[in-house]
Amino acid sequence: MLLFVGCANEKINTIIEEDNNVFISLNYPITNIKKLDKKIKKDVDNIYDDFKKNCIKDSELNIDYTYNKNNNYISIVLKIYINTNEKKEYVKTYFYDINKNKFLDINDIIDGYKNIYFSIDNEYFYTYINNDSNYIKNEYQLKNLNLKINIEKIETKKTNILYESNNKVLNPKDKFIALTFDDGPSIYSSSLLKVLEDNNINATFFILGNKVKIYNNVLNQSLKDGNELGNHSYNHKWLIKLDEDDLKTQIDDTQNIIKQYTGYTPTLFRPTYGSINDKVKKASDLDIVLWTIDTLDWKYNSVNRIVNNATKRVKDGDIILMHETYKRTVEAVKQIIPILKNKGFTFVTVSELREIQKLRNYES
Ligand code: ZN
Repeated sequence: MLLFVGCANEKINTIIEEDNNVFISLNYPITNIKKLDKKIKKDVDNIYDDFKKNCIKDSELNIDYTYNKNNNYISIVLKIYINTNEKKEYVKTYFYDINKNKFLDINDIIDGYKNIYFSIDNEYFYTYINNDSNYIKNEYQLKNLNLKINIEKIETKKTNILYESNNKVLNPKDKFIALTFDDGPSIYSSSLLKVLEDNNINATFFILGNKVKIYNNVLNQSLKDGNELGNHSYNHKWLIKLDEDDLKTQIDDTQNIIKQYTGYTPTLFRPTYGSINDKVKKASDLDIVLWTIDTLDWKYNSVNRIVNNATKRVKDGDIILMHETYKRTVEAVKQIIPILKNKGFTFVTVSELREIQKLRNYES
């Protein structure tokens, strides 16, 4: 059992100042335990300095304390009172193990909070302790606690329609972006996949049928990582110039070879050069995907320029066009991802983006 006595043996450090109509009275204990005294003094000095910086005429700072000590422990409450434009009172506490010569926190004192029950709502954290015939409830504002869980997120997740894909939970109220890479796979695909994987994001690859066989390992890895594959024709002919049979062959052969080497059947189609006519539209049931932002990575050598093109005017729902066939693109992507993450974007595949857009239409 801890038995504390309010003890008068300790010394008190007192500082009283009245300076230009600013009133300061500081009282704090000197315990002759170096570590403890140093910590208290440091805290008091900080409070004092802070107050001096912010005080106005007729301001007051008052620090007082309570002190309890037994053979093993010292327990101190520092009470800080500040009156400037408005009044503010708060405490700092120190609990010190004299024998072990260290500070203890609440986890060291109470065994796992076993008999303290708690609940939480949007604003408060509540504790309950059951006494013999009643219980004591206390509340604490969440904003003043170092919560380890995100309460806001839990709340929004409950009230929104969400879309689940690839073990990802996507909230239609967030901002989304889809990176797309054409003309691959290539010798740069592996390093590009690594960049995506390192950043824990997915993209969509519009690939050419004639490259599937040689790069089938890369494609399988890409799918395993959660990326999406789309059809970009067999050998990049300008499709609007082809007759119906040739056009159909370009699309179908690509579907077939992707299926053969990966087991995956694309649902997306990006026409070469972004050129569409009625023939192209009618050639398959695939979802035709163009883009809203062209990075021009095929045209410009400068990584910075590609990064700028991708990030400058970006908005929710954009589809960014890049190419898997340039080393500079891989370098640019390393910069583009953190910039867009900082702007609050979540990266999704094109099919995920489509699903989110459907949910939004459904909600509105
Ligand atoms: Zn292309």
